[in-house]
Amino acid sequence: MARYTGAVCRLCRREGEKLFLKGDRCYSEKCSLNHRAYGPGQHGQGRKKSSEYGLQLRAKQKARSFYGVSEKQFHHYFEVAERKNGVTGDNLLRILESRLDNVVYRTGFASSRAEARQLVGHGHFEVNGHRVDIASYLLRAGDEVTLCEKSKGLEKMKTIIEANASRPVPAWCDVDRDKCSVKIVNLPEREQIEVPVEEQLIVEFYSK
Ligand code: SF4
Repeated sequence: MARYTGAVCRLCRREGEKLFLKGDRCYSEKCSLNHRAYGPGQHGQGRKKSSEYGLQLRAKQKARSFYGVSEKQFHHYFEVAERKNGVTGDNLLRILESRLDNVVYRTGFASSRAEARQLVGHGHFEVNGHRVDIASYLLRAGDEVTLCEKSKGLEKMKTIIEANASRPVPAWCDVDRDKCSVKIVNLPEREQIEVPVEEQLIVEFYSK
């Protein structure tokens, strides 16, 4: 299934919690969950099923929505995570966190992951001095992400950076606001990843 392109607030309403998919709006009174804190659609206010499978499915869907990843790509990440040494759930989250669009968002160079994806796709960022326009590009420890020289002068970029300057930056990313760059100090440990997901349920979902 391709990436979801419908109204993203429906995804938060389905999960019953904020997934922060819309930038500034998510922190404002306009957030849909403030007005319609129930599931979307005709049966959104009905009784919720909570079978074991249902919980696992929701955990997987929530993670997919949170990172904006297609089913196919998400499953691929799971397979890669499974082959690596260590805990599969931790490996999966580490892979998702190391995506270029995620790092651009986490470090305040975009207001949402969707915006980060678009900015990367439009060629505004370089990795280790080379332009990279693939949002799913996986970064490694030691990589340096920089806003392209030409893009630094853009009003749009200045506004975005200013608006997100106060957002906390993960400890595994070293941000230099003057150079508009981010150094990946190390790939994150599980406790460094803030994500409203129980990854063990995802592992159980794919392990059936
Ligand atoms: Fe989710 Fe943001 Fe929409 Fe609120 S405004 S429902 S947090 S995407």
